[in-house]
Amino acid sequence: MKVLKFGGTSVGSAERIRSIANLLPNNEPCVVVLSAMAGTTNSLIDITNEAINGKMLMAIEKTKKLEDKYISTIEKLYETKTYRNRGEEFVSEIFQQIIRKFIDGFTDSNSREIVAFGEILSTGLFHMYLTELGKKSAYISALRFMRTDKDKEPDYFYIEESIDRAISTNPFAQVYITEGFICRNSIGEIDNLGRGGSDYTAAIIGNAVNATEVQIWTDIDGLHNNDPRFVENTTPLRSLSYDEAAELAYFGAKILHPATIQPCRVKGIPVLLKNTLQPEDEGTLITAFHNPQGIKAIAAKDGITAINIRSSRMLLAYGFLNKVFEVFNHYKTAVDMITTSEVAISLTIDNTENLTAITKQLSAFSSVDVEQNQTIICIVGDFVANRNGYAALVFGALKEIPIRMISYGGSNNNISVLIDSQNKVKALQALQGIVDNSTVINSELVAQTINY
Ligand code: ADP
Ligand code: ASP
Ligand code: MG
Repeated sequence: MKVLKFGGTSVGSAERIRSIANLLPNNEPCVVVLSAMAGTTNSLIDITNEAINGKMLMAIEKTKKLEDKYISTIEKLYETKTYRNRGEEFVSEIFQQIIRKFIDGFTDSNSREIVAFGEILSTGLFHMYLTELGKKSAYISALRFMRTDKDKEPDYFYIEESIDRAISTNPFAQVYITEGFICRNSIGEIDNLGRGGSDYTAAIIGNAVNATEVQIWTDIDGLHNNDPRFVENTTPLRSLSYDEAAELAYFGAKILHPATIQPCRVKGIPVLLKNTLQPEDEGTLITAFHNPQGIKAIAAKDGITAINIRSSRMLLAYGFLNKVFEVFNHYKTAVDMITTSEVAISLTIDNTENLTAITKQLSAFSSVDVEQNQTIICIVGDFVANRNGYAALVFGALKEIPIRMISYGGSNNNISVLIDSQNKVKALQALQGIVDNSTVINSELVAQTINY
């Protein structure tokens, strides 16, 4: 069984929703994971913010505007009046539920419930569309199987059992349709996997059903060797190893949610990135196959905070690192980059939720400086087969840009540098000059090598 995930632009209009029905496999059952229509999650977050700020009338007005968009999509999506009526009923019922939450007294957990409606809407409309076409499809609600534990990690035991049950109660379906992004948390509330989380949903389902492949369908022809939003003439990479793709996703390649690779890697499930607008294009295939050659791709992660911690006990303070990391551990705050000298340590975090408490605790035994608006630039390639010259290439390209931190040697396929965010675009463009385009290899070779 394959898992196919379609992102926001791929379900962004009636025309796009109709076109993805043609991309489903004909000869085997599949699970289809859908994002909300492009723009909907942002609109729902904006609406809940109005409600949080007590502006209920504004929240209701914006909700009605969003509903109008859906009503006009329905007009174009279905062939028959019967399905147009069914679609309208379904949409109106959901928007009434949203408005009722504003009227009945808005709470914090209502925000997450409202944001979840984006995926519930697209999934319901697509299911109705397939039914109108006469395709054997079943809707399996993500809220009945996708659950996270108290550490916000997928509860695989529960997910596997529940999704198996959902599939086996609909044995004749060829297409099982479900929502990306949304889940229940450890106390059973409606929650989500974070922005862009539908990719992660697809990977978790792939793991749970032992899929033969997870396909991520989006609006670009694969993972490019640099960020196409800021750099011209980027090209898609045809093959990447799990490690390389995970590094790029973690360090900012927006095409993949950072957590997507892990659930597939542990089961050796290939991840194929495809373009809905150009379905014939081969896309990017991510597997265990590793092509040991050159500098392959560049990505950037914004919103980074650098913390410099200087030991007040000065030299030979063993146990200092331990004390520092205990603080980050206590606040469950992940550290991305780290450099050390004898008496000081610089590190970066992207979750600043507990920054004030962290700096307060660190200040009890050290002096602390914090710098915000930093960006990690991640250079992915093979830095093991031939170590000579890569560092010189990277720093030569960045010679005009002040570098705050460097991380080299921790990973075999990643060099990271920390710079001020205002220099990000300049750095990405400068590094494009050192990307080795000969690393774009033929996917047939990958297929043969890994027996795919
Ligand atoms: P979806 O809504 O389908 O999940 P996203 O907007 O999340 O799509 O991801 C696709 C977008 O990611 C592309 O349109 C592109 O602008 C952006 N992007 C950023 N970095 C990369 C990269 N290295 N390769 C491909 N796309 C990238
Ligand atoms: N709709 C959600 C978002 O916009 C999830 C996703 O698109 O993957 O973040
Ligand atoms: Mg996305």
